[in-house]
Amino acid sequence: MSQLRSVLAIQPGQPASDGAGVRLNRVIGGAGIERFDPFLMLDEFGSDNPDDYIAGFPPHPHRGFETITYMLEGRMRHEDHLGNVGLLQSGGVQWMTAARGIIHSEMPEQEQGVMRGFQLWLNLPAKDKLGDPGYRDIPASEIPRLTSADGVEVVVIAGQFDDGQRQQAGAVQRPHTEPQLFDLRLPAGSRIAPRLPEGHRVLLYVYEGSLELPGERPQQADAGRLVRLSDEGELQLQSASGARVLLIAGKPLGEPIVQYGPFVMNSREEIEQALRDFRDGVLV
Ligand code: MN
Repeated sequence: MSQLRSVLAIQPGQPASDGAGVRLNRVIGGAGIERFDPFLMLDEFGSDNPDDYIAGFPPHPHRGFETITYMLEGRMRHEDHLGNVGLLQSGGVQWMTAARGIIHSEMPEQEQGVMRGFQLWLNLPAKDKLGDPGYRDIPASEIPRLTSADGVEVVVIAGQFDDGQRQQAGAVQRPHTEPQLFDLRLPAGSRIAPRLPEGHRVLLYVYEGSLELPGERPQQADAGRLVRLSDEGELQLQSASGARVLLIAGKPLGEPIVQYGPFVMNSREEIEQALRDFRDGVLV
């Protein structure tokens, strides 16, 4: 058997508040962001208390990257300066390419009940940061899913799932970083070994239950923990008691990252330009 990817870190997220006061768990973001290249941020939101989410994210800009919103439960309405309007519903994904600029709002539509999901930020290569913005709304019914021989349910949001027995292309394919985004539901006593390209950065976010990673030094990650793995080797996941896990992988860009809030560029000069463009109303 070839070598397994080793566990570099298992870490909790940090409670945070963003938008007009949405309470969330910031899983990736802040200092040391290079370690997660090409991913810049991962927020988990989940609450049945409308006070935690109802204020939403009123109009705000982005430049230089993509946002991927995956809604487990609830409804979020988005509108942008291009006149696009969409309603993200349970199980759906919005894949938004901000590129040179987008100004949008992301507002919960419901006034009661559970709101639960994720937003992941994926960097763009330098040459695409000032390209055309765009987005796709992908309802749950259009996102491929499969069940592995071991009973693991896999939602193939992006990339190419392959465990040696089943192959399935995801709803989204992106060049350069080749992101792989799978939502895995492991029943108790199951295992799965997704094949991922060598050199890809691999992150696992356990959002329910408990996940075990076999190897020379077996590790366990409980709900609310992010696992950062080495860029080379095979991946084996198992769960004695059941788990739900987001698998996030992509090819690192290896370019400088300079972030100022919702702008992510390669240099301070480019950030200053983004701020000027936003101020002058020519961001987009
Ligand atoms: Mn946004």
